[in-house]
Amino acid sequence: MSTPVDTDLLVIGGGISGAGVALAAARRGLRVTLVERDDFASGASSASSKLVHGGLRYLAKGAVHLTAQSLRERERLLRELPGLVQRLPFSLAAGGAASRASTALGLRLYDALARRHARGFDPAATLAWTVPGWHAPQGAHRYDDASTDDARLTLRVLQEARTLGAQLHNRTALEALTRDAQGQVNGAQLRGPDGKAWTLRCRAAVAATGAHLATLADQVGLQAPKLRPLRGSHLLLPLWRLPLARAVAWRHARDGRPVFAYPWLGTLIVGTTDEDHPDPERAPRITAAEQAYLLDALAQAFPRAGIQARDLQCTWAGLRPVLDSGQGLAPSQERRDTLVQASQGLVLLSGGKLTTFIPMAEAALRAAAPWLPPLREPTHPAWFAGGGTPLPPEA
Ligand SMILES: Cc1cc2nc3c(=O)[nH]c(=O)nc-3n(C[C@H](O)[C@H](O)[C@H](O)COP(=O)(O)OP(=O)(O)OC[C@H]3O[C@@H](n4cnc5c(N)ncnc54)[C@H](O)[C@@H]3O)c2cc1C
Repeated sequence: MSTPVDTDLLVIGGGISGAGVALAAARRGLRVTLVERDDFASGASSASSKLVHGGLRYLAKGAVHLTAQSLRERERLLRELPGLVQRLPFSLAAGGAASRASTALGLRLYDALARRHARGFDPAATLAWTVPGWHAPQGAHRYDDASTDDARLTLRVLQEARTLGAQLHNRTALEALTRDAQGQVNGAQLRGPDGKAWTLRCRAAVAATGAHLATLADQVGLQAPKLRPLRGSHLLLPLWRLPLARAVAWRHARDGRPVFAYPWLGTLIVGTTDEDHPDPERAPRITAAEQAYLLDALAQAFPRAGIQARDLQCTWAGLRPVLDSGQGLAPSQERRDTLVQASQGLVLLSGGKLTTFIPMAEAALRAAAPWLPPLREPTHPAWFAGGGTPLPPEA
């Protein structure tokens, strides 16, 4: 006779990855419990660039599979969450003839993978009307991606999971995992918002703690693959200060990295940086050097706008959970792959992107399946039955 359990699956971490796993499990009839030590979506999942995108720059690095998957997911989220995920037209400043030809080829593939036709090219004379004040003398490539409110998306996924029976515990930290005589995970020690410790019996657990994977691995005495937490920072300006009707991207004159600015909920988001941040337990904040780098990028692209630090409404920084290739690459050269590793009832899930949370969640659930009751067919093929309707105030 098997030991009774409180929940089939314990999910550790209430960012988009953990939220996705909770929903994936609940859709398939499992009892699932999610714990988040801080606030839901308080990690990278509210500090991203808020793009739901295929990742044109990943395509340039040959990551065709990741781009294809991301584009499929972009289209799915646009379809299923209208209002929460919106199409975002982009213009990318063109370089010289060779780079222009290779970007055009890349955009052809980008469109083909997304099964739509959005690409085009605007000469500088057209840009003078469509993006006034933008210094893009060689013209710009046109394509489209999408944007969202990342925290709200995460809360929406959690809300769907809760509707299907998931138990969600905010401000509840995993302190230790318990194991049976064979070493298989069978429960957890948790600490709730009132400071009280409690235990939970489960059949399996998924650790979706983002950039905090190493901290969690230390806590539960596990060897985890090495992550390289990378800090990305953003500036937020009131939109009236630089009124753009579309997203624009260009290469920073200092290091050739792509940077962007786009309109978002009456503001302008400018991003981003890519800096090593070795201690994920130290809260990320923009540095003076990163702020200067992003302001320089704006001055380069919009020289007449005269944007300065005093124009900023706020800034934010987040930690990308990036797998360390160990090759000493520049931060932006590291691949954005997903980690799914299972052993003795514990699945580690990290890396990846906001955009790809559904295939990540499905992969984590498949990896946990050997320890779980049989997965039922989802009752509905769509992940979000009710479209992008607003969250109720208490969610
Ligand atoms: C600067 C930046 C820009 C980005 N831009 C984009 C973008 O435009 N588009 C895109 O698709 N992706 C983007 N990403 C990537 C995306 O944001 C992340 O991949 C994603 O948010 C990671 O989600 P997560 O749930 O794995 O991690 P997180 O959101 O960090 O969640 C992990 C959670 O685990 C919790 N936790 C940790 N330890 C414990 C514990 N012991 N007990 C309980 N809970 C615990 C943490 O408190 C945290 O809330 C960006 C990331 C960054 C940082």
